[in-house]
Amino acid sequence: MNNKPTAIVIGAGIGGIATAARLARSGFDVTVFEKNEKPGGRANQILREGHRFDVGPTLFLMPEVWEETYAALGEKMSDHLKLTRIDPTYTVYFEDGLQLQLTSNLGEMQTQLEKIEKTAFTGFLKYIAEGSTHYKVSLEKFVGRNFRNIFEYFSPANLPLLFRLKALAKHYANTGRFFKDERLKAAFTFQNMYLGLSPYDAPATYSLLQYTELAEGVWYPRGGMYRAIETLAAIAEKLGVKFIYNSPVAKIKAGKSRVESVVTEDGREFFADTFVGNADLPYIYKDLLPISAEARKMDKKLYTCSTIMFYWGVDKQYPQLAHHNVFLGRDYRASFEQIFDDHGLPKQPSFYVHAPVRTDPDAAPAGQDTLYVLVPVGHIDEAHEQDWGAMVARARQAVMERLGKEMGIIDLEQHIKFEIVYQPETWKDRFNLEKGAAFGLSHNFWQVGYLRPHNRHTRYKNLYFSGASTHPGTGLPIVLLSAKLTTERILEEMGTISVQNMAKAVAAANAPSQ
Ligand SMILES: Cc1cc2nc3c(=O)[nH]c(=O)nc-3n(C[C@H](O)[C@H](O)[C@H](O)COP(=O)(O)OP(=O)(O)OC[C@H]3O[C@@H](n4cnc5c(N)ncnc54)[C@H](O)[C@@H]3O)c2cc1C
Repeated sequence: MNNKPTAIVIGAGIGGIATAARLARSGFDVTVFEKNEKPGGRANQILREGHRFDVGPTLFLMPEVWEETYAALGEKMSDHLKLTRIDPTYTVYFEDGLQLQLTSNLGEMQTQLEKIEKTAFTGFLKYIAEGSTHYKVSLEKFVGRNFRNIFEYFSPANLPLLFRLKALAKHYANTGRFFKDERLKAAFTFQNMYLGLSPYDAPATYSLLQYTELAEGVWYPRGGMYRAIETLAAIAEKLGVKFIYNSPVAKIKAGKSRVESVVTEDGREFFADTFVGNADLPYIYKDLLPISAEARKMDKKLYTCSTIMFYWGVDKQYPQLAHHNVFLGRDYRASFEQIFDDHGLPKQPSFYVHAPVRTDPDAAPAGQDTLYVLVPVGHIDEAHEQDWGAMVARARQAVMERLGKEMGIIDLEQHIKFEIVYQPETWKDRFNLEKGAAFGLSHNFWQVGYLRPHNRHTRYKNLYFSGASTHPGTGLPIVLLSAKLTTERILEEMGTISVQNMAKAVAAANAPSQ
């Protein structure tokens, strides 16, 4: 007979896979139910006609966090992933013709920056130094740990750190302390979009992103980002995790204080001791759990932006494009207002092009290109009229025009063999992302740390969460940390329960007989 504690995980995104694998390694019998046909969630892959696209993430950041995950599962990352450092990390294009290659080569940075502004290189060094402090303090004191209560979070030791991290200052405004040129302020803040945030709202803490990219590096696994998903899922299976694909959970059944079972869309019911929700947290509260006041509160929370994506299989290569290319629109501030306030597509959209063949020739047939274009847009908002078809068409035209004007790529249209488009409704339908917000819940001051929805349900004590919309937040390595923290919490609670049970048993045994 199997005496192992049992766990059910809802969703095989990176958060679900990593939590399942950690639990299995800790002695659980784990089953993962995934809505789609394969693992990965947003970090998915499209294969077509010899072209290989990563669907969402293209930047492999914070390798030390990945290494810790593989090690915790008894493996070595280097046995599974062959990483190449991408440096220069990006080429940034401005509409006035300026190009900036962000690189860890300080000499090259100095030459480029001083051409734009005399003091910009000194500003850059100070900015990266501040980013380094933000990164280290955040990771150690806020991101890499669980908070049990508000007093732990706003403790006398942590409060001064929140000021040191500039948690209440705005990122864009703070960047003005280091650079005067608006283009430089843009070049060192657009990375907030990885978190789906506007730099005008994001805490200045997020200068940690630029530090991570330039100091710790932007990497790329041979075979694409999806190799990381494939290897982690294979390790989970090796540890005994059972993955059940094409099986959306339709309902979570709960008693007074505990979840009892999950019911899949085809009507089957499955029971376990512990449950982990990896699907988007607001969606779980609103669509899977019994109706509650917390579910209604989810509508009032702030959500990240969404994206329009073009995946193009192209029968020609465009050497003008680097591996990562960022095109910034002219009116930077207005473009964020149009995304975050109006929930639409900016008049002059910024966008990002991923051209992996530069690093990994196998991503396309010989002599051809695999292009991924990401255009940030607002999330789904019923209060606004949103014509996604028209926005997709306008985004496409804007991309074509800029590639033509600034790179001389004028024949792309004729060379696209096929096109796959994702837009906010695709993110919602395919992965159940609330409001189609591609990065989940927002990360402003009021939605991080203890103030973010917790990784354990307050009422249902055996229901936990792991993924981008719980603590600590979005981004693959951060979700790996979420998996670690959630697993630690489950194991600690189990420890507490068994210690309590033991104490009760001892007390009962010692009680005087009546
Ligand atoms: C366009 C884009 C670009 C990005 N770029 C980067 C990047 O460069 N670097 C980086 O580090 N991060 C990046 N990210 C962020 C990163 O992809 C996410 O933070 C991460 O993948 C989230 O993982 P998750 O496990 O929390 O959620 P998900 O990936 O959303 O996984 C949740 C899973 O639950 C499943 N599910 C949903 N409902 C149900 C149900 N009812 N029953 C069963 N299963 C269900 C879904 O199908 C999905 O597989 C990017 C994201 C996007 C969208």
